[in-house]
Amino acid sequence: MTRHRLAILLGCALFICTSATFATVDAVCKKISDKLASVSFEECSVLEMTASGHSSVNGVPLLIKEYPPLKQRKSRGRILLVGGTHGDELAAISIVFKWMHTLEKHHSGLFHWRINPLMNPDGALQRKHQRTNANGVDLNRNFSTPDSQNGAALDYWKVKTYGNKRRYPGPYPLSEPETNWLHQEIEQFKPDVVIAVHAPYSLVDYDAPSRKNAPRRIGHLYKNLMGTYPGSLGNYAGIYLGVPVITLELPHAGIMPTRRQISRLWTDLVRWLVRNI
Ligand SMILES: [Zn+2]
Repeated sequence: MTRHRLAILLGCALFICTSATFATVDAVCKKISDKLASVSFEECSVLEMTASGHSSVNGVPLLIKEYPPLKQRKSRGRILLVGGTHGDELAAISIVFKWMHTLEKHHSGLFHWRINPLMNPDGALQRKHQRTNANGVDLNRNFSTPDSQNGAALDYWKVKTYGNKRRYPGPYPLSEPETNWLHQEIEQFKPDVVIAVHAPYSLVDYDAPSRKNAPRRIGHLYKNLMGTYPGSLGNYAGIYLGVPVITLELPHAGIMPTRRQISRLWTDLVRWLVRNI
């Protein structure tokens, strides 16, 4: 048993939690590895992610991996990294696993990371994966922005997308458990930057009160600011809360970037964080 698991078990003895935690996490890892050709069970399980305490509509635990500050070094800031907001963007889930393994080897305490590689397990892990969650909601339109509180997300959906089912913002802001998790995560963790991974538009987007620090290029992705939408994460965290949001749009939803590209994306991300936090 690793030291990490031993520590959790000792904690569990005090707080009515059992080794079922591991069973649950491993069950999610099994589903993930069954679905994603580029993530093996071992590669998921060995990370020893923990259940966040939040679950999807269908009851799948939303998992978290934390790389906390280290004693010997003052962390420069807190970074929240989220993959798999849209369940049909499988590469945007797999690449986060690759980066977690980079951190497994090289976490130096430079930043305090909290990572959820799969925000929308219901959309991703079913046989026919889908963009929306199990309630048919586009999670990236379900956040509580000042405009969406007045029904702008629903109006935008009806008028601008002609009621496109893939972009349904939900009946009201934060109606979904998955967005509630991220909302609470931002409130409690207080990230300095949020990084969200998507596909397939092949660009890097940036939402913040000022866009002058927007990354011009991250790896093979170039800056292309897409604007904000009612109820989107960029609008909520980047504009409303003032927490910069970097959105990476990989070129393909179902094809992984090369190992070299994966590594370059990571290096450029960290370089941008060092310069801007
Ligand atoms: Zn997406």
